[in-house]
Formats: sequence, C-alpha cells, structure tokens
Amino acid sequence: MGPQGTNERDYYEVLGVSKNAKSDEIKKAYRRLALKYHPDKNKGDKVAEKKFKEAANAYEVLHDPEKRKVYDSRGQAGLDDIGFQGFANSDDIYSNFGDIFGDIFGKRFHRERVGPQRGLDLKYTMEVSFLDAALGCEKQIQFQKQDICEICKGSGAENGDIKVCTQCNGTGHVSTQQKSHGGFFTLSTVCPSCDGAGKSVENPCLNCRGEGRLMKTKVLSVKIPAGTKGGSLLRLAAQGETGIRGGTAGDLYISVNVMPHPFFEREGLDIKNDVTVSFAKAALGGEVEVPALRGKAVLKIPKCTQSHQVLRMAGQGIKTKEGRSGDQLVRVVVTVPRKLSEEQEKLLQDFVRLEESDSGKK
Ligand SMILES: [Zn+2]
Ligand SMILES: [Zn+2]
Repeated sequence: MGPQGTNERDYYEVLGVSKNAKSDEIKKAYRRLALKYHPDKNKGDKVAEKKFKEAANAYEVLHDPEKRKVYDSRGQAGLDDIGFQGFANSDDIYSNFGDIFGDIFGKRFHRERVGPQRGLDLKYTMEVSFLDAALGCEKQIQFQKQDICEICKGSGAENGDIKVCTQCNGTGHVSTQQKSHGGFFTLSTVCPSCDGAGKSVENPCLNCRGEGRLMKTKVLSVKIPAGTKGGSLLRLAAQGETGIRGGTAGDLYISVNVMPHPFFEREGLDIKNDVTVSFAKAALGGEVEVPALRGKAVLKIPKCTQSHQVLRMAGQGIKTKEGRSGDQLVRVVVTVPRKLSEEQEKLLQDFVRLEESDSGKK
C-alpha cells in the first residue's frame, strides 16, 4: 500500500512476477491474465473485470522502463506525481494494447475502424471583430476536409461496380473458434476480406483509390449570430468530414474569438463606453453625440450630471434574434478646461461668489 493510502495491489504481485522480471516475462504474464479475465469470456463478471483492469495497469507500469523505475523507487505516490492514472474502462485497454492482443483476438480490438464509420468532427477557429460579433455577420471560411468523391458518389467503385462479399455473405463478420485454457470459445470477428463492409469492390475508383472520399478544400458561409460571445463554439451539423463506408458525416465546430474594441466593452447584451463632457454642459445639461453600435446616437445629459455617472440609452445594446435587447451604458467623464479666457474666468469668479453667498444663507 502506498504512503497516500491508495489500495492498489503491488503490480509485481498482480502479474505474479518477481521484482527483477524481464520484459518478456512481464508480457507473458500479462497475456495470460488478460486472456483469463477478458470481458468477452467473463460477461458481467465484475471481479474478472476488476482483475482485467488491474492486470492492464500493472502491465502499463512494468513494461515501461521509465514508469517502472518510478514505481520501484517511490511506489504509487511516484506514479501519481508523474500523472499516471491507470485505465478507466476496458475500451481504453483495447486501444492501448491492440498490438499485444492482436494475434489472440484479431480485429476485435480495432472494431472502431471497420464497418460504416462516422466522419471526423472538425474544429475551425475564427477571429471576429467586436462589432461583427455584437451585430452578427456572415463570414466565408476555407478549410480542408475529407469529402465525398464525386466520380464514384462515395461508393469507392468505378461504374458502381459493387458485389456482395463472398467470404462473409455480406454480413461483415466471420465466426472463428479459439482455444484457451478453459476450452473453446467462439469469437465473431470482422471479415478480413471486406473489413466489415459486407461488400467487395471489383474495380476501385481511381479518383479516390477506392476510399469513396478524398481531401478537398471547402468554402463555407458561416452565420455568426448577433451577440456571439468570445470563446463560443458554434456547431454546424454534418459539415465535418464525410463518413467512411456509408457512415454519417461529422460536425464542424466553429470556435469564435472576439477581438477587443478600442472603446466599447460588453456586459451580457449591454454595451459600455465612456464619453467626455465639459463641466459646463454636465452642470447645465444638454445633448452630446456618442458612438453607438449602429453608428451614432444622441445622448441627453440631464442637468447637474456628476462625473462618472452612468447614463442608460435603452435599446441601443445587442439585439438577439430571439428578440432580447440590451442597452448602451454611457459613463460621463466630466472635463475641466485646460485654459480659461479672461471673460470665462470672470464669469466663473461670479459663479463662485454666488455659490459662497448661497451657502452663507443656509
Ligand atoms: Zn471515387
Ligand atoms: Zn466480407
């Protein structure tokens, strides 16, 4: 048991080998246990499943000289430190050790590669200006993807020349008997002749070499909805790669990066910016023209507006296609003149006198 109280069994003990076992020995021990506890032979047996995983983890550590060294000197805690987490499920184990199982279970461990297969999802990162994201826009993107071959219409066969596979009679699977410690068991494996497609192509299409699809450059128009936030992921269904052997197409994900604006900021559907107003206008009230999302807008400054007071222009924010609408929030920054004319100074002195006599009355 490790110093952190993990309840992993000692990996050497799990495989039943000595501390100085050679890699051949470790591999052999693992194969024996993997066969014994394999889920195909122990359907629904939780104990066997646990032992299968335990053996896979032990093998993963002990057949790798680096991990083994860490484990030998520091145990489970050392493995935790280098980020070794072990296998969570049997599928992970198959995909990691396909090579070691290969000759035992055949293509069982590459099942994801046979039969109809969904096309890959693709991700495209797009940079959008602040205003384009706020107001919505349509952008053309160009990218490469595996797309359907027009010559053979995706069949992979020239002149549509496809026959039913004779080895599996079109089922895509063949049954084989395997011998193990416990006797025989029957395994259904993927037909080696047609790779599970159930069909055979007499004359493969030359354009796509029988794949039914090939790399193409695509141009696509993408709508960015008004109010799209930076970091959003837009999903375009079935715009990813074309499937294999009749599988469905993958999706295309557009990752949106929104560029900052020189003076606008966003908060939800609201737009925020600052506007400078002279101290006289702030005191007397009036109107100023301010930049807005859709050009310019007139902002009413009420009498005696204070510096840094926020004024709301209703409905001037982002409008979504669902009909929601934000406001524009304008922060008034009151400025003091850098220079005064003689007359301005005189008027201000009068103003100060009035202010003083006013406060004297109170
Ligand atoms: Zn083709
Ligand atoms: Zn076949």
